[in-house]
Amino acid sequence: MKIGIIGGSGLYEMDGIERKRRVSVTTPFGNPSGPLLCGQLHSRDVVFLPRHGRGHRILPSELNHRANIYAMKKLGVTHIISVSAVGSLKEQYKPMDIVLIDQFFDRTKRSADLTFFGHGIVAHVPFAHPVCERLRQLVGRAGREAGATIHMGGTYVNMEGPSFSTLAESNFHRVMGWDVIGMTNYGEARCAREAEICYTTMAMVTDYDCWHESHETVSIEMIIDYLRKNVAMSQAILHKVVDGLDPATDCPCQHALANTIMTAPVVMPATMRKKLHLLIGKYLKQ
Ligand SMILES: [Zn+2]
Repeated sequence: MKIGIIGGSGLYEMDGIERKRRVSVTTPFGNPSGPLLCGQLHSRDVVFLPRHGRGHRILPSELNHRANIYAMKKLGVTHIISVSAVGSLKEQYKPMDIVLIDQFFDRTKRSADLTFFGHGIVAHVPFAHPVCERLRQLVGRAGREAGATIHMGGTYVNMEGPSFSTLAESNFHRVMGWDVIGMTNYGEARCAREAEICYTTMAMVTDYDCWHESHETVSIEMIIDYLRKNVAMSQAILHKVVDGLDPATDCPCQHALANTIMTAPVVMPATMRKKLHLLIGKYLKQ
């Protein structure tokens, strides 16, 4: 078992990691956001990656989710906890609350970039429940123990960005019944499922989206203050999750590709087969 942590806006470092070493990983899908920080937290192997790169240089729509997830897989990561700043679409999700979402709705135009498959190898991975339920429940318990206000369940609408929503879009998202809005997690979740890695998201509310009457009066200083407090809380929760994760527990996410690969091995292009070996090799032995 190895735990990956992907840090979003504000979470660029992870406290408490011992025996640190930075590892640059090459992938057949391009470069990840930067070197990955490997080490140990509570005697467990962990890998940390700041999603937007060192110094926050990468736009959401420029993120190479395939490379980030492939790099994690290559390093042996089996579970990923993603930490992300989100806007709230509902009154009850206040700044500094955490929503442990269980659904996504994709409003980006990036479908082809968000799968490892194609170019001669076809697979249709189940994605009705895009978040690992076991990991989500564990994060929920850890969050309550850490004293956070946790909301279990909700839909994360993934917009393209980088600008925030217009008022019309924000109202539309609310009419649809969605809960929080962000720019990054859908692609990560999809690639993680194809890579058979358990994945869950801590959606940390930094502010209300522009539908809310308080939106005009919230200063950038207040949002940065919320972001800073969210980062401190997310670190406290991550420590508890890493400490409490049971390495013996199997999970359906770890077998997500079983019986999903449609292409007969005999007609798979050799280059693609090689490219996907890390992900599908175990299913091609027979
Ligand atoms: Zn799982």
